Amino acid sequence: MEYFDMLKEACENEGLIFDETMYNNFIQYKALIKEWNEKINLTAITEDEEIIKKHFIDSIKVFEYPYVKEATKIIDIGTGGGFPGIPMKIVKPESSMVLLDSLNKRINFLNEVIDKLELKDIKTIHGRAEDFAQKAEYREEFDLAVSRAVANLTVLLELCLPFVKVGGYFVALKGPAIEDEIKDSKVALKVLGGHIQEIIEVNIAGSDLKHNLLVIKKIKDTPKKYPRKAGTANKNPIK
Ligand code: SAM
Repeated sequence: MEYFDMLKEACENEGLIFDETMYNNFIQYKALIKEWNEKINLTAITEDEEIIKKHFIDSIKVFEYPYVKEATKIIDIGTGGGFPGIPMKIVKPESSMVLLDSLNKRINFLNEVIDKLELKDIKTIHGRAEDFAQKAEYREEFDLAVSRAVANLTVLLELCLPFVKVGGYFVALKGPAIEDEIKDSKVALKVLGGHIQEIIEVNIAGSDLKHNLLVIKKIKDTPKKYPRKAGTANKNPIK
């Protein structure tokens, strides 16, 4: 099957229907992932169909939910090769997107993707979440923070919630087993000003992938001392 048809079918199986530009952007993005993956480590997923399901569809499934649909100012923390941020930007071009990662090689890749796909109102940041969340121009500035495969929930809350404005959301794209993580993060959630709004089980048609979207609402300001300096959240998690 042609890549375009495979992509369109996978999207339609999820009830997602896009215009030609969006599909073309995904095709170009896939080609860049494959090209750069030979030079730098971007992803272990290299088969066309797997890239569609495990990266593209997985990233854009979040748009089925109002927390995400209504957000205009979004940050993707630990975006790596651009997941979920780039697919989100492709299907919602009117959103304003910031992609943050501490690995410069991946940021260089993302800059090329943005350039080639001619994406507008999207910015990359090379740095650690711990440092940028303390800067006034990023702190409590976003309607929505998203993050996939970056850290356990307690650490993730400290890295991500400071970016979210009160009334906004942090959506963590998590694996199938999150009960223990949720139990362990009770104190962090309270201290950092979050509240679990909803846990949504996500299945992807034609794939054995089972994920959970953990939707956290920011209900009060995060105390200024968080996030602590780089590495501290991992070494000494809030308990
Ligand atoms: N989100 C992408 C995905 O799902 O494919 C990438 C996941 S990758 C396993 C984790 C990424 O988070 C890496 O690219 C790493 O550089 C970045 N990262 C980890 N800790 C970070 C921090 N404190 N600040 C910024 N980026 C971080």
